[in-house]
Amino acid sequence: MDRRSFLSLAAGSGLVTAVPMSARANPAPIASKARIVIIGAGAAGTALANRLSMRLQGASITVIDPRSQHLYQPGLSLVAAGLKPAKYVTSDTSQWLPDDVSLVPEAVEAVDAEAKTVATQSGQSLPYDYLVLAPGLVLDHDAIEGFSLDLVGSHGIGALYAGPEYAAKTWEAASEFTETGGLGLFTRPATEMKCAGAPLKHTFLIEDIASRAGAAGKYEMHYLAPQSALFSVPIVAEKVRMLFGARGIDAHYNHTLMAVDPGAKTATFRKITRNGESGVASESLETLPYDYLHVIPPQRAPEFVRQSGLSWADRWTDQGWVEVEPDTLRHRRYPEIFALGDVAGVPKGKTAASVKWQVPVVEDHLLAALSGQEGTAIYGGYTSCPLITRVGRAMLVEFDYNNDLVPSFPGVIAPLEELWISWLMKEVALKATYNAMLRGQA
Ligand SMILES: Cc1cc2nc3c(=O)[nH]c(=O)nc-3n(C[C@H](O)[C@H](O)[C@H](O)COP(=O)(O)OP(=O)(O)OC[C@H]3O[C@@H](n4cnc5c(N)ncnc54)[C@H](O)[C@@H]3O)c2cc1C
Repeated sequence: MDRRSFLSLAAGSGLVTAVPMSARANPAPIASKARIVIIGAGAAGTALANRLSMRLQGASITVIDPRSQHLYQPGLSLVAAGLKPAKYVTSDTSQWLPDDVSLVPEAVEAVDAEAKTVATQSGQSLPYDYLVLAPGLVLDHDAIEGFSLDLVGSHGIGALYAGPEYAAKTWEAASEFTETGGLGLFTRPATEMKCAGAPLKHTFLIEDIASRAGAAGKYEMHYLAPQSALFSVPIVAEKVRMLFGARGIDAHYNHTLMAVDPGAKTATFRKITRNGESGVASESLETLPYDYLHVIPPQRAPEFVRQSGLSWADRWTDQGWVEVEPDTLRHRRYPEIFALGDVAGVPKGKTAASVKWQVPVVEDHLLAALSGQEGTAIYGGYTSCPLITRVGRAMLVEFDYNNDLVPSFPGVIAPLEELWISWLMKEVALKATYNAMLRGQA
């Protein structure tokens, strides 16, 4: 495939696959005086704000977010492998928002769904007719005893999820491992998490780099997961298991990172021995030495969401994801509230690629509601992850709520093959298409 045909392909792939036609047809603006409040100016909040701004005339659209920097998080994996500088993932939050959208640069502290108000850190109370929750998720580093972010980059500890600065420090620790070798431990949390492929990508990339650097022949790598499979989609889990086997990476299931002792360079895991398919027969603690440890902490909805009464009461009770209908992302008890992106309590998602498919659905239902109608768009759980397996190789894995693989280019890009073109999707095309999504154009 030549470069021109790749780029035209990329312009429609993964994160960039076709947008529902209804959203692209440039329909006449809808006149409305509605007050729409969006919490969070990340991938989801920004994309929705742009799309609503294009569709509405006279509405008040307010985005609330205290962070002046927008983070292109898919780039963190590349930063933590020394392939991009930290600044590759940062831009100004305000540069992505249209002029007719107001940005309130504050953290939300509470939502009162009965009074239909949002309270900010400074004590402002913002009334809304429609509310979209898009504050992403929080990383619960405190849940791991002995761990703190100032350890990252020293003591052989990496934690790439924590942001650009920590991803760069992660590479400092990881590159020592790729040069000198030793024992590498790679973890993932027991909770739901954003981009469940990222812990695997980091493992594969560090192994690939180590195999060609000073550590060649002098390292041992272990991947420890609380789950009993390496990925939630069985066919992908099996492929990863085979790749791990071929690359000499040992997989350990039912292992949850509980504590770190940076002085002794040991990590303690809770190990579950299961009795048959479901039952837990016994629990024990296992302490392992490491030369490099990659930490990904438990992930939860932000505190104000968990306190708002908007979370599921009977599932993910330790995590607090918002109780929405999986196909419309509309709150099950408050129809004027929607949740988008990582905070949404749906069985799949938590990728920017999911956000791209979710945003037009919320847009459709919200605009229909303004006209007293019901929307028709459906989110089927589309989730995608360019699963990097080496520098220059990736698998473009796309799936839905049913764990069915939903390749964007059947017959062109095989989802379970390690391909250069899938790597280019991640390395070159993803950021451009992510940016187009932010502007509401993808
Ligand atoms: C290491 C890593 C690799 C990834 N790789 C990929 C990939 O290859 N492909 C892919 O599709 N996805 C990937 N993702 C996932 C993707 O980046 C996220 O799923 C996506 O950013 C979610 O968008 P969001 O808007 O829900 O959350 P975010 O983009 O995180 O934005 C949330 C916003 O809400 C704001 N906020 C938080 N609390 C409050 C509050 N109290 N009040 C107001 N505002 C608040 C934050 O400041 C932030 O700006 C990756 C993520 C990581 C961490």
